[in-house]
Amino acid sequence: MQLSHRVTNITEGSSDGWDIFYKARQMISEGKSVTELTIGEHDTRTDPEILKAMNHAALSGHTGYAVVPGTQSLRETVAARIQKNTGAPTSYRNVLITPGGQSALFAAHIATNEPGDHALFIEPYYATYPGTIRSVGARPIAISTSAEHAFLPRKQDIIAAATGAKSLLINSPNNPTGAIYGSQTLHDIAQICQTHGLWLISDEVYDTQIWAGKHTSPRALPGMLERTLVIGSMSKSHAMTGSRVGWIVGPETAIDHLINLATHTTYGVAGFIQDAAEFALKQGAQLEEKIAAPFRRRRLLAQDILDAQSIVGLMPSQGGMYLMLDIRSTGLTGEEFADSLLDAHQIAVMPGESFGQCASGHIRVAMTVSDNAFATALRSLVGHAESIKL
Ligand code: PMP
Repeated sequence: MQLSHRVTNITEGSSDGWDIFYKARQMISEGKSVTELTIGEHDTRTDPEILKAMNHAALSGHTGYAVVPGTQSLRETVAARIQKNTGAPTSYRNVLITPGGQSALFAAHIATNEPGDHALFIEPYYATYPGTIRSVGARPIAISTSAEHAFLPRKQDIIAAATGAKSLLINSPNNPTGAIYGSQTLHDIAQICQTHGLWLISDEVYDTQIWAGKHTSPRALPGMLERTLVIGSMSKSHAMTGSRVGWIVGPETAIDHLINLATHTTYGVAGFIQDAAEFALKQGAQLEEKIAAPFRRRRLLAQDILDAQSIVGLMPSQGGMYLMLDIRSTGLTGEEFADSLLDAHQIAVMPGESFGQCASGHIRVAMTVSDNAFATALRSLVGHAESIKL
């Protein structure tokens, strides 16, 4: 039987750039010891206090059908946090609780694009972006950046793609590059969205992992409240990746329609998960900082190790749990380098090409193993680059 083009075309039949990841997992299943610096999964588990709150909520009976938009108190807690952190007026009516940031990305694109519309995103990009856009029937249009420009989008490149497009998806702090968009970049983006009638979809799932510079939510910029949909998640900020709880924040009318979408797709997020998320958020910045601290430390460790050599370059790393390394001096592509590193040293990293061709000659390293294991792996990685360059 014929399946729809929309569902069979989500990845356009291409390899999804995760070959190294699967190869590493295969080696592990064969009993080999591999240092995995691939996916964005914390090396700590969800805090036991959060699990206690989840357990308590479940045992108290919060296990029936969830309130679809999210519980009133979680929506209010998210709204208060966003208003406090960004200054933008936000009430519970601006918030829809979703099963993770990924489903919020899907909802944001289906809300803003008709089939065939152009949905813009910045390359290098988080791996699911083009597929998410295809799955709502829209056409993904990548706006390329370059290492020379710190992988930040240039105003003229966004303008060139903007005519006729419906939405622009940005991600700051950025996965995979670690960049945080500065105020000039965000003002330019806000202005282009207003001039060209674009929705801005702002993926801010790394907003608690800021190492340098300042994170500004573009929703708080003049004229942006009515055209911005913010994607948030408990996955990275509270090490709750498996709980699948996030949100979308936007104008009330958009949220009202998205509640309808949720009713006909996800039917909400489990009540006991929502209660745990509310408990976690109410612990405030202290818990968020505790969860971010290992990445803050490891970024400094990496800077020390990489400052002492000149073969592997470190892209400006301002936020998030990844480092983007420039290995172009070895003459290898990111894929070749990652493959040879895995064979020679049993260290798995993501090739830059997994995030778009403009990141060729780079690799993304997740800072998701213990400090010692991370430092050892980085030193081996540098040694590997040196041995190739010789
Ligand atoms: N956006 C970005 C940039 C991400 O890196 C991720 C997960 N790695 C997500 C969204 C989705 O996260 P989740 O669905 O777990 O909230």
